[in-house]
Amino acid sequence: MTYRSAEYYKHITDSIQYYAKPTYEKTVDEIINQISKNPSQKKNPAVNAQWNASVNFNIRKPNFVVLHHTAQNSAEQTLFTFSISRTQTSAHYVVGRDGVVHQMLNDFVRAWHAGNSKWGNVTDMNSCSLGIEIDNNGSEPFSDAQIKALIKLLDYLKDEYGIPQANFIAHSDVAPSRKSDPSKYFPWKRLADAGFGYWYDTYNLQTPPSDFNALLALRVIGYDISSQSSAIKAFKLHYIQNEVSGTLTDYDKKVLYSLYRKF
Ligand SMILES: [Zn+2]
Repeated sequence: MTYRSAEYYKHITDSIQYYAKPTYEKTVDEIINQISKNPSQKKNPAVNAQWNASVNFNIRKPNFVVLHHTAQNSAEQTLFTFSISRTQTSAHYVVGRDGVVHQMLNDFVRAWHAGNSKWGNVTDMNSCSLGIEIDNNGSEPFSDAQIKALIKLLDYLKDEYGIPQANFIAHSDVAPSRKSDPSKYFPWKRLADAGFGYWYDTYNLQTPPSDFNALLALRVIGYDISSQSSAIKAFKLHYIQNEVSGTLTDYDKKVLYSLYRKF
């Protein structure tokens, strides 16, 4: 699809929103209807005793943040993409190059951003994560204004939902065979320094012991190692960045050894 101007996408999105907002509200009504059913109304064939209600509960909350780059040319184009049903894709937030942060979905609903994914033993990342799309075409650096705005957003989310530092991860981390976003330009160290995700010791990197099992270390961090070269590539895209391949050098192994001990 040829790219039109940001103005074009803003204009078309503004008119689509006339329909998108009532559709959003209709879907929320369906969710309310689903979760308002008490256990005696929603039949579970395995239950054969009368319903006794517990009074101690609240709503489930996100425990991960998955970061993406949009691979598009403007935030306006992405807002358009997520406003139409044909694309079947969405994110909770879109962060513009200018540092403008757009929220498209309530944090408690399930956005469609991670797709087929696995991290540790979690196989439905969409159900437990927030998706943040960062406006970037994939072959350019991220602007300072954008990263500042992102960190402000992450600060809020980490605090609001008690998301652990380790659980700020990349789309490429959770879908290593399919995805490579955000790109090698993404400043993961800057994020880790701010408390989002881990980074390796940049001084005094130790040589791993001779029995160090690199694949097992990747698995401990969370990578799906069913394709070894994909897992290694995803790891290198995140932590090595200047050289991304399916094999680990001695230096990469030092980085991996340093990192996995933090998990
Ligand atoms: Zn993505």
